Amino acid sequence: MNDIFLKIINREIPANILYEDEKCIAFYDIHPEQPGHFLVVPKRLSKTILETTDEEASHLIKIAKKLAKENIIDKNIEGFKLKVNSGKSAGQEVFHTHIHVIPYK
Ligand code: AMP
Repeated sequence: MNDIFLKIINREIPANILYEDEKCIAFYDIHPEQPGHFLVVPKRLSKTILETTDEEASHLIKIAKKLAKENIIDKNIEGFKLKVNSGKSAGQEVFHTHIHVIPYK
């Protein structure tokens, strides 16, 4: 299976990683919508957010909040968006669940 995010998790391809724990990893988006745009990704494969367990989903949100505070708000960037594209028609291109965290100055 051609899971590009699994390859990042397994260090088979490089990424600019800003956080990792036993359940998830966060790295900067290769085509950022805004400077500082990063992704929070569970290590266990689920294709969309609906396939995550409630525990996995709440951990992803917890880490997205922590990293948004440390990397956006504490750096005096005023706001950010959290985005989860689910399904091709909604713009999902990588079918390994991820939360986009997008800063807005
Ligand atoms: P989505 O459209 O929600 O599936 O978003 C997938 C995101 O993954 C896009 O914003 C891509 O720019 C990003 N992306 C794809 N490949 C990589 C990669 N190798 N490293 C970092 N981000 C990536």
